[in-house]
Formats: sequence, structure tokens, C-alpha cells
Amino acid sequence: MEEQVSEVSTDTVPSVALRGVTKRFGDFVAVDDLDLDIGQGEFFTLLGPSGCGKTTTLRMIAGFEEPNEGEVRIDGTDVAGLPAHRRPTNTVFQSYALFPHLSVKDNVAYGLKRKGVAKGEVDRRVQEELERVGLWGEANRRPNQLSGGQQQRVALARAVVNLPKVLLLDEPLGALDLKLRKSLQVELKRIQQEIGITFVYVTHDQEEALTMSDRIAVMNRGIVEQVAPPVEIYERPTTTFVAGFIGVSNLMPGTVRSLHGEKAEVELEAGITVEADSNGLATGERCHAVVRPEKLYVSTAGNGSAPAGNTQSVDGVVASSVYLGTATQLVVELKGDARMTVLCPNTDEAERQSLPGGGADVQLSWTPEHIHLVRESGTERATADHEAIGRARQEEASA
Ligand code: ATP
Repeated sequence: MEEQVSEVSTDTVPSVALRGVTKRFGDFVAVDDLDLDIGQGEFFTLLGPSGCGKTTTLRMIAGFEEPNEGEVRIDGTDVAGLPAHRRPTNTVFQSYALFPHLSVKDNVAYGLKRKGVAKGEVDRRVQEELERVGLWGEANRRPNQLSGGQQQRVALARAVVNLPKVLLLDEPLGALDLKLRKSLQVELKRIQQEIGITFVYVTHDQEEALTMSDRIAVMNRGIVEQVAPPVEIYERPTTTFVAGFIGVSNLMPGTVRSLHGEKAEVELEAGITVEADSNGLATGERCHAVVRPEKLYVSTAGNGSAPAGNTQSVDGVVASSVYLGTATQLVVELKGDARMTVLCPNTDEAERQSLPGGGADVQLSWTPEHIHLVRESGTERATADHEAIGRARQEEASA
């Protein structure tokens, strides 16, 4: 692994590379043998539930934690032992951590002044960054005279003004209300594209990750389950965990019966056999087939009204129907205990009125390109154990 890194030419050196990185707290493994390459200027997100190890990963890049094993490289340089303030990184936290007694301008200027940058240069760069985040007009205010969203923008300007090679962001929008969070997501993405530096972003919010990222690493219990661009993570999840964490987990359990080139024939417990990309599965292996809710078409059993092209279908019974405004959500129970969520857009009132209600026998259909096979991620029980052990360790550590 190490050799691979040294062999790559300079223009393809990853901005951040993790090689076999493991972090243990006592005997609890918070991050387990992680390999990641984050590209230059990439908006890269670590996404996963509480306790999956994303903050610990970020802290190892920042230099607030050292790995027990493995290597962290920034721009090709091994940063082992280098303290946080000597790394070419800056971190933006959820708590803005501004100096309350300093003005907005002085908060942003702080790092540059400490480095001994000339006054003219400090003034120019501070103004540039405050204009970028739309707060030059508030430059002389104190942090407590600003809203939460404004304070977070000051924190961002204060980090960016130091021209880090990599900006690390740990749930920076977590303390803000939903509307503000959404507008700052767009703003953060714009700023990242404008300044072109690498952003490594930690969040547990799947929508936030899908909106902002070039690529997402979905983490679960200290490991990365999938790294891919947002569309791929959503449309082609590779594990049951990723399928369930991103969006609704419409999982139909089954077993691979045979392989034909890239395709697998899978017998589903719902009573049908489907063909789909094998996704590396082997004959005899247990797996799940996923179809996203908006890709399913529901029709009353026996009326044969499915759109042309929906060549795969399965029978079920409607368990519930809920009006959501823009769509109606049906939950359909299949043979073998699978429950499928279907989203039917409310574009036509007559069509909405004719949707089958609770207890109706229905057929769900889809086009073959919308079914994907995923492998098991490990049991829910193991995930719960992992989180409980982690919490206990943290309590021990802070006691
Ligand atoms: P969250 O979104 O809740 O912050 P996370 O995915 O960022 O979750 P981490 O903070 O990386 O998770 O923690 C990963 C695991 O390691 C957790 O189970 C946590 O309890 C444990 N852990 C983190 N820091 C310590 C510590 N200093 N001592 C002991 N255990 C720790």
C-alpha cells in the first residue's frame, strides 16, 4: 500500500490519503483499518450514524488524535506526529468557537496576525473572506451580536483566510434550524467551488451529504461500506446498510441461484425470480434486492395497467396509505415479510383517488434497470453492541 502512494506522480497525489488507519479506545475499535483517497479540491463527505467513527477519522486528519496503526498523508506527506497547528488543515466545528471579546474582523484576522503576516495583507485577506461569506458589513460587531448562521459564516471565513490545503468540517450546520441549514448548504458548496480547496465534511444527515458532496464515504461501525458520488450511493447502494441509511430501505431478501456473466439470477422470498447485475455476489449467497420507492409502480391486482417496460413485478397487500402532500406513500407487504414503500406522485387528483387503499391486493412493478442487488452489512444487533460499547468507553474516558 505504502509503495503505491510513493509511486503515483505528483499531479495525481491525493489531497488526503488514509492507509490502513485504525484507532482504538482501550479495546474498542472506533476506526477499523481504513483506506481512503480524497482528491485535490474535492468536496468529500464522511456520512454515517452516531458513533460510526466519522469524527474520529476527521480528528486523525486534523492531528487531534493519532492513529494506533496506519498512515495519514496530506498532499503525499506522512503527517504522523505533526501537531494540529502545524498541519496544512483548518477545522470548522459545530460550536463556532469564536472569541467573544473580539470583533468579527479580529476573529478572522487572529490566525494571520499570530503568523506575523503584514498588516496590509491581513486587512486585504480579512475583507476578501468576509465579503465572500457576505459579512463585511458586520465586520465590527461582536459574535454575540450575530445570528447562529452568521457566526458559523465567520468561523468559516476565519478558517479559510489561513489558506489551508484541506478544510475539515465537523457537522458545521448541526446547530442551525432546517431552513438556515439548507441555505448554508448551498452557500458552503459555492464557497468550496470558488476557493477550490479540499473539503472533508462530517455529517449524519444523508440529505445534506447528497446535496453538497462530490463523493460520499458511508461509514458503519468503524468501516467504510461504500465510497461513491451521491447519485451512485442513492441509485446503486452496494450493501443493506447503505441502502437503508440513504433513503428508505426497500429490501427484498433472496438467494443467488445462478450467474450469467455480469448478471445474477436471484430467487426472492417474495415469490419471484429476478435478474440483475451480480455486484460481485456468488452463487448460493444470501442478498437483498432493492428498488427505490419512487421507481415502483402500483396497480390493483389483475388489472394489468403497468407501464410498458415494467417487466418485473411482485404481488403484495397494501398495509397503509398516507397522504404526504406532493405524493402518497403506500406500504405494501410481500410474501416472506418484506415491506416495500411506494411513493406515488400526486400529479393528478383522479389518479390519486383511484390508488388502492389498505387491505387491497396489488402488483408492484418496475423496469429492470431499477433493481439492484446488495450484500448483507452485518446484523443490527452487532451495530447496537458496537455503539453501546463505544458510549461506555467514552464515559470511562471522560470520568
Ligand atoms: P457522532 O456523530 O455522534 O459524533 P461519530 O461517527 O462522529 O459520531 P466518533 O465520535 O468518531 O463517532 O466516535 C466513534 C466511537 O468511538 C464512538 O462509539 C465513541 O463513543 C468512541 N469514542 C470516541 N472518542 C472516544 C474517546 N476519547 N474515548 C473513548 N471512546 C471514544
